[in-house]
Amino acid sequence: AQWSKTWTFVDGDWLEGNPPLVGPRSHALWLGSCVFDGARAFEGVTPDLDRHCARVNASAEALGLTPTMSVAAMLDLCREGLAKFPRDAALYIRPMYWAEEGGYFGVPPLPESTRFCLSIYEVPMPADAGFSVTLSSHRRPTLEQAPVNAKAACLYPNSAKALMEAKARGFDNAVVLDAMGNVAELATANLMMVRDGIVHTPYPNGTFLNGITRQRVIALLRADGIEVRERVISYRDLTEADELFSTGNYAKLLPISRIDARDLQPGPIYRRARQLYWDWALSRS
Ligand code: PMP
Repeated sequence: AQWSKTWTFVDGDWLEGNPPLVGPRSHALWLGSCVFDGARAFEGVTPDLDRHCARVNASAEALGLTPTMSVAAMLDLCREGLAKFPRDAALYIRPMYWAEEGGYFGVPPLPESTRFCLSIYEVPMPADAGFSVTLSSHRRPTLEQAPVNAKAACLYPNSAKALMEAKARGFDNAVVLDAMGNVAELATANLMMVRDGIVHTPYPNGTFLNGITRQRVIALLRADGIEVRERVISYRDLTEADELFSTGNYAKLLPISRIDARDLQPGPIYRRARQLYWDWALSRS
């Protein structure tokens, strides 16, 4: 593969490229004990980086790993790595924990074998352009069915299947329901809809990621006097929305321009939310 410029901190050193870190006996590779988080740098800012660092530690604990980095130490390391790139570069910042060895019966991770790395690499910010969505046949599991309280690598084959299915039908992304059949999120981001000037978004019921971007956008909208309701949303509600947009670390906010056969335009609330986010983010440099 042709990797974009990448720096990774592991075991005390910064390495360039894609250095091998695991072997055939590594628990994470074999049995999936890997958690990560994704933050961004763009235009010289790193919005909510502290919250992404805190979340990766919480994800590690949720899987039975022992986080070895404090949030403050992780932030220092991020700053060190960011200095290796131009100040205004568009970057993905990915801390990751995994287990090298298995514990009891070899199946749970051995907490003492937890390892950490931090990778930073160039990923362009996508253009502010609409994308299409369709209803996925795949659903978000509950906490009894999968470790949805962690941002765990083992959850992503489900997202991948939703995306493959959407792509095969000619759509860009998929709306994924929860186990109850209510709207949860997109395969790779959270979802918001607008009706009559009010923003509605699925109540975070623990089956999907309560995204850091989602929480930030809700706070910014409310502070701007726009009502946001977190509630149960059906797929039918989505298909009748005035506006739909996504929130997530990768693109921050993007408008949805089509849901199944219905075309949508980026609307005034989407535009306002995106402006509020960028104004807030850029004021923090
Ligand atoms: N849901 C899923 C499945 C995701 O992968 C992401 C991206 N991390 C999100 C939602 C959005 O979360 P955040 O705003 O914290 O990036």
